[in-house]
Amino acid sequence: MNADLVALLELQAKHKVVLDIEEVLASLEPQFAELDEVVNHAQEQLDTQRVRAQEADDRRAELESKIEGYRVMQERKRQKLEWVRGAKEASTLMAELDLARTVLAREEAEWIRSADKVQDMQRQVAESEAALQEIEEGQAPERQELEGRRSDLDERLAAAVDERDQVAEGVQPKLRDQFRRILRGRARLALYPLKSGACGHCYTQVPLHRQQKIRNGDTIEACEACGVLVYQDDGSENES
Ligand SMILES: [Zn+2]
Repeated sequence: MNADLVALLELQAKHKVVLDIEEVLASLEPQFAELDEVVNHAQEQLDTQRVRAQEADDRRAELESKIEGYRVMQERKRQKLEWVRGAKEASTLMAELDLARTVLAREEAEWIRSADKVQDMQRQVAESEAALQEIEEGQAPERQELEGRRSDLDERLAAAVDERDQVAEGVQPKLRDQFRRILRGRARLALYPLKSGACGHCYTQVPLHRQQKIRNGDTIEACEACGVLVYQDDGSENES
């Protein structure tokens, strides 16, 4: 086998190790996403409830200041009543006071409902906080395991990339560039064995005279259809 081909095949073997690790790493992503989705859903629910609880609390505060205003007004009228002399003026003030009492009673009833709602919302917030915490705690072992696997794979990937790049240094620059150019295309690998006279990647028949050259190992031939490098596999069946 020609030395360039040997070097290229070694580079491809190292590159395959990188690809395999990248695939396993990518397969972890949906598992992380699944865990995140459950957390995000609970977090969104909690956020919504917090907003509602704040709104209820604002409403209660608003009612409180309104009621306080009525009370001050009522107190002024009551004091005024003590100094009023004319019967007509007194009865007008009395009527106003009666009305104010009714309004106040209504506002107070509203305040009680509002205070109940605040409590209710705060209870819901507390429940959602507990639920979120429970989810996070429940996920912790699985997350830890996944993160452990990921960091382990990251390390292996870095080592595999280093190793591949080192091997690439030993390949003729022109061939190395061709190898990289092919990988930027659709093919997963850059070299495929000749299979029954066809390209092992796209299965297009290779012209006879080129098949001969490939078999002789004289040159490294690119497939005319898909551009990958086609080589003669020496007996042992290719695993890809
Ligand atoms: Zn092809």
